[in-house]
Amino acid sequence: MTQNNIPKSPVSLLGLGAMGAALARTWLAAGHPLTVWNRTPARAEALAAEGAKVADSAAAAVAAGGLVVVCLLDDESVGSALDGVDLVGKDLVNLTTTTPAQARARASWAEERGARYLDGGIMAVPPMIGVPEAGGYVFYSGSRELFEMRRTVLAVPVGTEYVGEDPGFAALHDVALLSAMYGMFAGVAHAFALVRRADVDPVAFAPLLADFLSAMAPSVHRTAAQLKSGDYTTGVVSNLAMQVAGTPTFLATAEGEGVSAELLRPYFELMRRRLDTGSGQEDLTGVVDLLLR
Ligand code: NDP
Repeated sequence: MTQNNIPKSPVSLLGLGAMGAALARTWLAAGHPLTVWNRTPARAEALAAEGAKVADSAAAAVAAGGLVVVCLLDDESVGSALDGVDLVGKDLVNLTTTTPAQARARASWAEERGARYLDGGIMAVPPMIGVPEAGGYVFYSGSRELFEMRRTVLAVPVGTEYVGEDPGFAALHDVALLSAMYGMFAGVAHAFALVRRADVDPVAFAPLLADFLSAMAPSVHRTAAQLKSGDYTTGVVSNLAMQVAGTPTFLATAEGEGVSAELLRPYFELMRRRLDTGSGQEDLTGVVDLLLR
């Protein structure tokens, strides 16, 4: 019960890995009746001591409430955990990381079994769960009606960001952001390799790197505006011709400093291909089109 005596809606949660356990604790702390299930029962013991009801099967956990949150390893584990479970009338919220195609297929699968379906992509690590100031959130997509109805309880562990009716969109946004992150990490690895060879103190270098990446990040807004307008020459600060002309400096520096350029080269090749289409006055935005198959 809340302070105003309004009962809090029950939650059934399948999956008590690092993420599931973190989610579970926030619902318990907020006073939501929580039923949990985990394939390995021992992982539920600590939560039982904290007030969760432990179901002895996935089917029993699903039967315990209307809102069923699933946070398992991958799509295959979701399929095996829910195989043969009665989902009629349930609100199934799947926070398991999957591909957009798997999310769409899982949505159809759930709807064929009489459930409403919402897919989620978690943009947080477990220590950020239940810590609003950490800035984590979950992308949601699928049934808008279900999202609106359940958003208060879904917002207990971490922020919510609804991105559309297509059930694949949460996974798409999730993977898009993480892909950008890996691109950034690739650049960071190259930068550290360069200074490491030269014996520059990496701890002294790190704030310079972090501040520069932060200063560059807002350029994504210009890229977005150009993609939307179709005009890649508006607002250009450093044109493609100039940037391609600079790439030998980067490659020669890597070579001269004894660092492999294998992370830089593929991007430079795309820049060159775009330049070769007569796009020297553009920004780097045209590279996006080269990636579309
Ligand atoms: P863990 O590896 O800690 O836990 C995996 C969970 O899946 C466990 O509950 C495990 O059960 C269960 N599981 C695995 N295979 C099966 C199966 N075949 N049948 C039933 N249950 C199964 O992972 P996390 O909790 O960290 O991650 C869960 C989801 O959250 C993943 O999709 C992950 O990508 C996503 N996520 C995780 C983040 C993180 O930083 N941890 C960040 C963002 C998203 P058992 O205990 O029996 O092994």
